Amino acid sequence: MTNIISGTKLASKRKEVLKEAIIKANQKYHRSPKLAVILVGNDVGSLSYVKGKEKAALEVGITIETFHYEDNITEEILENKIKELNLDDNVDGILVQLPLPKHIAQDRIIDLILPSKDVDGFHPYNVASLYLKHEGILPCTPKGVIAMLDSENITIEGKRAVVVGRSNIVGMPLAKMLLDRNATVTICHSRTKNLKDITKEADILIACLGKAKFITSDMVKDGATVIDVGVNRDKITNKLCGDVDFDNVSLKTSYITKVPGGVGPMTICCLLENTYIAYLNHFNNK
Ligand code: NAP
Repeated sequence: MTNIISGTKLASKRKEVLKEAIIKANQKYHRSPKLAVILVGNDVGSLSYVKGKEKAALEVGITIETFHYEDNITEEILENKIKELNLDDNVDGILVQLPLPKHIAQDRIIDLILPSKDVDGFHPYNVASLYLKHEGILPCTPKGVIAMLDSENITIEGKRAVVVGRSNIVGMPLAKMLLDRNATVTICHSRTKNLKDITKEADILIACLGKAKFITSDMVKDGATVIDVGVNRDKITNKLCGDVDFDNVSLKTSYITKVPGGVGPMTICCLLENTYIAYLNHFNNK
């Protein structure tokens, strides 16, 4: 029988540890960590993600303030807000909920965030730090995936890892982190030929392509570890589902994650941990 790696349980454990650390740090620094969130428009997904982050932040004692703008906001107003938050000594982390409306140059906005406050790890400085193995802020979802593997003592070194998806926020950084842990990594994408032949070789298979139940059991090696990053709606049931056909794939795996309750809670947990790290660095003048 397969083992299910529960992101909900792991995140809950880690948040307890974080909460205790924040209580102690609060006594030393006389204020809580603070996260500023910028939300533009009323996309249902974005609103619900921000709500989840607000709830989780409050649970661990992180102050969170959301700046919610209408869809038609100008780039200038957003830029000025980021500059103001960069200068605000009481703000440790800044998060821009993506995607932004099309008329706003997303990259330009992210680039404006002070790297030390970029708790999503999306700023070019933090991206470069990962690739150069310098100290920086790691992106939350890949960091959460590695934490899930580590929580079960799943060996990464020497393993064949296959990452299906090459986005800047998930696939690419995750592939780099697996490589840094000495896995032999293959990155697949929409133009990959004979995908199944490659995924079948994976000891660790990461699905981050955003296609409901795309990874079927014939694409998975017996005994593999499968991590499902995808968040999709099942076209038939309209329920939340991942990129992996869980019911069938889980019959062959050693370890697998579920959607919901898998990578999602760990992404939020790592965001809180990054905010705490940014807060400590702030006081230690890093
Ligand atoms: P994205 O930017 O759309 O990237 C998707 C990647 O998958 C692209 O590299 C694309 O290839 C590749 N791809 C698409 N169709 C493919 C196919 N048929 N075969 C092989 N590769 C294919 O998506 P993302 O932002 O990385 O997100 C991926 C999924 O993870 C989404 O479902 C998203 O909602 C979810 N997500 C979850 C969390 C979480 O916390 N759980 C966090 C972030 C994202 P090309 O590069 O060739 O186009």
